[in-house]
Amino acid sequence: MLNEYKFCPLCTDPLETKTIGGAERRQCTGKECGFVFWNNPTPVLAAITHRRDEVILIQAIGWPKHWYSLVTGFHEAGETAEEGVLREVKEEIGLNGTVQSLVGVYSFFEMNQIIIAYDVLVDDDDITLDTNEIVDYKIIKTQELKTWPSGTGQAAKDWLASQGIVNEELSFRKK
Ligand SMILES: [Zn+2]
Repeated sequence: MLNEYKFCPLCTDPLETKTIGGAERRQCTGKECGFVFWNNPTPVLAAITHRRDEVILIQAIGWPKHWYSLVTGFHEAGETAEEGVLREVKEEIGLNGTVQSLVGVYSFFEMNQIIIAYDVLVDDDDITLDTNEIVDYKIIKTQELKTWPSGTGQAAKDWLASQGIVNEELSFRKK
């Protein structure tokens, strides 16, 4: 990861690895530039989309056929996290929603991401998938929602627990 960037995005001089603030970082070799690639985690917004006693899960393009997860997307510049998560819900499944609460914040080290998960109550209209990103959806009774390993699965687990529900956790290998 650290060696991915070879040149400075500001002045195009080469980057070099240096220890800054106790960690190895890529820094610009340009004398007057000073650019440092901090490699901070990228914020990802996630929504537990629900209405009545049902939760809506989605399957993104390229996932195995038995995988369903939360609506997620990158936090864009110029929007609040709450605005961003509602934008993603609208884009991916075509529903308007309202944020009910923050479920939690979860580290996803493998992807260098930080997942910010919200409880989103969605309206009763028909679901329209963004077919550029999503191939399928699944509606599951809240009582029957099973969780899965990973940050979004932990968010689902915490959300269920807040309603007094503890269900089986799926393995990624299970068909
Ligand atoms: Zn530079």
